[in-house]
Amino acid sequence: MLSAKEIRDSFKSFFESKGHHIVPSAPMVIKDDPTLMFTNAGMNQFKDIILGNKAAKYTRVADSQKCLRVSGKHNDLEEVGMDTYHHTMFEMLGNWSFGDYFKREAISWAWEYLVDVLKLDPKRLYATVFEGAPDDNISRDDEAAGYWMNFLPEDHIINGNKHDNFWEMGDTGPCGPCSEIHIDLRSDEERAKIDGRDMVNKDHPQVIEIWNLVFMQYNRKADGTLEPLPAKVIDTGMGFERLCMALQGKTSNYDTDVFTPLINKISELSGKSYGKEHMVDVAMRVIADHVRTISFSIADSQLPGNAKAGYVIRRILRRAVRYAYTFLDQKSAFMYRLVDTLIDSMGDAYPEIAKQRDLIMKVIKEEEDAFLRTLDNGIRLLDNVIAEAKKNGKDMISGKEAFVLYDTYGFPLDLTELILKENGMTLNTKEFDEQMLAQKTRARNAAAMETSDWVVLAEGEQTFVGYDLDEVSTKILRYRKVKQKNNEYYQIVLENTPFYAEMGGQVGDKGKLIGADGQEIEIFDTKRENGMGVHLTKSLPAQLDGEFKASIDKKARLSTSCNHSATHLLHAALREVLGDHVEQRGSFVSPEVLRFDFSHFQKLTPEEIKKVERIANSHVREAIALDEHRNMPIAEARNMGAMALFGEKYGDEVRVIKYGDSVELCGGTHVANTGNIGMIKIVSESSIAAGIRRIEAITGANVEDAIDELSTTLKNVAAMLNNTPNVVDALKKSIDENADLKKQVEEYFVERVNNLAAELIEKARISHGIKVVSLSGLRLPEVVKNTAFRVRELSPEATVFIAATCDPSGKPLLTVMLTEDVVKNGKNASAMVREAAKAIKGGGGGQPGFAQAGGKDRDGLSVAMQTLAKNFE
Ligand code: ATP
Ligand code: MG
Repeated sequence: MLSAKEIRDSFKSFFESKGHHIVPSAPMVIKDDPTLMFTNAGMNQFKDIILGNKAAKYTRVADSQKCLRVSGKHNDLEEVGMDTYHHTMFEMLGNWSFGDYFKREAISWAWEYLVDVLKLDPKRLYATVFEGAPDDNISRDDEAAGYWMNFLPEDHIINGNKHDNFWEMGDTGPCGPCSEIHIDLRSDEERAKIDGRDMVNKDHPQVIEIWNLVFMQYNRKADGTLEPLPAKVIDTGMGFERLCMALQGKTSNYDTDVFTPLINKISELSGKSYGKEHMVDVAMRVIADHVRTISFSIADSQLPGNAKAGYVIRRILRRAVRYAYTFLDQKSAFMYRLVDTLIDSMGDAYPEIAKQRDLIMKVIKEEEDAFLRTLDNGIRLLDNVIAEAKKNGKDMISGKEAFVLYDTYGFPLDLTELILKENGMTLNTKEFDEQMLAQKTRARNAAAMETSDWVVLAEGEQTFVGYDLDEVSTKILRYRKVKQKNNEYYQIVLENTPFYAEMGGQVGDKGKLIGADGQEIEIFDTKRENGMGVHLTKSLPAQLDGEFKASIDKKARLSTSCNHSATHLLHAALREVLGDHVEQRGSFVSPEVLRFDFSHFQKLTPEEIKKVERIANSHVREAIALDEHRNMPIAEARNMGAMALFGEKYGDEVRVIKYGDSVELCGGTHVANTGNIGMIKIVSESSIAAGIRRIEAITGANVEDAIDELSTTLKNVAAMLNNTPNVVDALKKSIDENADLKKQVEEYFVERVNNLAAELIEKARISHGIKVVSLSGLRLPEVVKNTAFRVRELSPEATVFIAATCDPSGKPLLTVMLTEDVVKNGKNASAMVREAAKAIKGGGGGQPGFAQAGGKDRDGLSVAMQTLAKNFE
């Protein structure tokens, strides 16, 4: 029996023997394409070539590509685990022809590989062909059917509709018919009962599609019509895990050696066995599948997070935790313990996961812990909702409440439903769906981008000249209008361009486009789309054809380049100071600031930060000239010591940027000499995720500005301290003096209050045997209060204190203090101040023995005092 690894290798050697160049898998997480978050098919990395934006280096290519289908056009998430042949992440084996061979070879080689090389039983194979579409004016794909007839009997060739057998890249762009190969893996008895032909495309878990051959021959325009594609493309994709199942005589992908080690480990850790109980099996498949996806995603630098791709990954992880929680009784983190098993079985083919083991485990565990807390929290909230509903005699929970749990607290809907069921209750699902729909519409409106067709002024490829030039004479190749929310702008593609298009964390250039007639158009940003720089502008030039001068904002570009080169120096310095485990995890480079995210487990100490700065700045002062290699074979770059990046994209040549010991693969713009940077200053250091730190730094003129600001502040402070040469000492002296004074004032207060209380008691009026002590006039509130308490201390029995005072800002205050025996006789300070406060337009209260009230009208103070005094006449 062939092992998974042998099967993967055999595919590559077969197509190599047919003249194909074997390329590595592109990363699963896509960083620079606004239209796609994850690679979802083998063709993604060749999109530029298929669209004709880039010339193909090899016209025949084959590979095994890590794919993820959990969002957008391909979303298999809900199937995964429920069935036995859809995964979130899977490997797609594929072969391509860019303007080289077409249907005949694609079909006969697929057959040769499956039947002659791998020895699959031809009687179990079926092929589908496109039945045609009158609305598009396309007839049945008789050409493909004809080639299949060389190998298959007619009843194994099945017509398929537009949905299954016509492939389109998007609403517009390359498209064409496709032919799928299906395999029937049922037992002989079952096959005898129902013909395999009738089971194709019927969602039977053992009659499944294994290989799709796409024949791109048309281009769809924005108005919906088709035109022939100049260079036809073959694009095939075969599910590797499904092929393993067919070849290893299994009926589930999870029974192949791709998954059994994981399933066994899950079984061992949870104490449950696989194959006994339906939902336990589903849970084990979900976990085995998802732990692969999450681990590979983390290795590709996409951590679980709150937004975009990070959020998708977080949701996958949570789905697994939720199944483990409910069906495998795992109430504490456990998935992270599967990572070693995964590395054992896949680490050879994908060394990135072995290399990042510690980070992967740590991140998964932290996410698991956090979500388990969310679950506990959600269950508590839901319990309250249920209790409230029961109290009101209801047996249905509103969809709104469930949606809040789901949306705000991340509590899974199915868990809500399960818990409700256990309590004999139901959920208003209609209301829930309405909430969900409303939210989706909100999200869609925010993101929707409408593009018109490209208006092509001239054919040709774009050349980026911005590594060498700030300004170039050029022409417009094409442009189109884009509408997004209430925003309208244009995208322009230039032939030669000095504008750097946003990529690898470096922001796009801004600048101007100047026409032959002198008209200037502002370019406010430059983005990358399908490998091409697209210039964004609010308005189009009046004269679109002819020569233009394209000129970037040089000052902004220089600051950006300083920041980018500084990022490299800091990266090298961080590795020197902290160790080789430091690896780039993300970066952002703009004219103002640079951010660099890297793997490291502790907070950097102030000494470490200083060391890193010192090293990086020493390289700035060494004024090292840029050593740039634009087209270096990847192997040579590695030999030079370039940080080995995994999964470089197709195209074996890379750009290497070297400043002394810092050697990096990088497409960004850089300074000619590190001396240009002037100086690097780290301004902050923080944690952004488990095991990932972020530093922010500024360079050059920005450091100058920061220093200016700092020294101005210092000068102002010194001026306040009579321009003393030693600010720190002077300030310390002033602080000490201040503390001394404060102490003195406090002492004085105590003394003053003590004297005042004694004086007032002396002067007290006696009424029915009670001493009535009173105070009025301008007094600080704390003096009044302390005096009241001091009076009580000096005269603890048969004494009352009444005060109607005013603080220095003019606010009136009433205060009443009664000794305990007076309170016992039925008097109440709180009631008294409340009554008297009417006179000062205020209110207040307190305890029976002590109460205060503030007010707005100081003119009422004497009336208030009379009211208070009346209580003791
Ligand atoms: P299906 O109808 O089975 O979902 P598909 O039409 O979505 O397949 P394609 O987009 O043509 O599949 O992808 C090419 C091949 O990749 C398929 O023939 C199949 O073998 C494999 N494949 C597709 N989706 C998955 C998945 N989620 N998990 C594993 N393999 C898959
Ligand atoms: Mg599918």
